[in-house]
Amino acid sequence: MISRVHHLKNIIKNVEKNILQIFGLPPRELALAYTYEKRLPEPKKFSIKDIVGDGILLAVPKFRRTVEKRLKRKFGSPEYTWKMLVPKTNIIVCNSCGHYHERGHLCAHCYKKVEAETKEIQDKIQQKLGNQKPIENDVIVLYNGESLPDQPKEFWRGKRIIEMKKDRPQWFSKNLLEKTTQQPSESKDVKPTDLA
Ligand SMILES: [Zn+2]
Repeated sequence: MISRVHHLKNIIKNVEKNILQIFGLPPRELALAYTYEKRLPEPKKFSIKDIVGDGILLAVPKFRRTVEKRLKRKFGSPEYTWKMLVPKTNIIVCNSCGHYHERGHLCAHCYKKVEAETKEIQDKIQQKLGNQKPIENDVIVLYNGESLPDQPKEFWRGKRIIEMKKDRPQWFSKNLLEKTTQQPSESKDVKPTDLA
C-alpha cells in the first residue's frame, strides 16, 4: 500500500516537473511549512568584553625602557635636539627704531617700513610705465624737493624718472639707490692701470 502511494507521488512529481519546466520555472519540491515566531530581542547590556572579546591584543610595551632612554625621549639631548625651553640671549635693540630683534637678523619693524615704501614705489612705477611689458630699464625715484643728480650723458641712457609726491622718509638714504660712487669709465682696457 505504502509503496503504491509512493509510486503515485513520484508520478505526480515527474508530471509537475515536466510541465513547470515548459514555463521556465524551477522544479518544485515538497517542503515542511511552519510558522516562525519572532522573539523580541533582549535589552543589550554594555560590556567591555563585546568590544575587546578575547581575540584582540592591545598595544602594550613588551620590554621596560631604561630611565636614560625615557628621559632622553622626553627632554631631548643638548648635543642633538634639546626639547626644553631655553631663554634667548641674543636679543638686541634696533639702533634706528628701538624695537627688539635677534642679533644677525633684520629688525622686523624696520623691514615692514621698507616693504611698505617699496610697494608704494612699485605701484607708482606700474602706474607710469604700464603693466603690459616688462620693465627693463633702470628707474630713478625722486621725492618732493629733489632735483636730478648731476651725471654725464651715459648715465641717463634708457633711464626713467618716477616722482613720488611726498617727502623722502628720513630713514630712506638716497645713497641706497646709487650703484656706484665712481664716474663711469671711458677706458676699454681689460686690466686698468691707474689703480691706486
Ligand atoms: Zn628697527
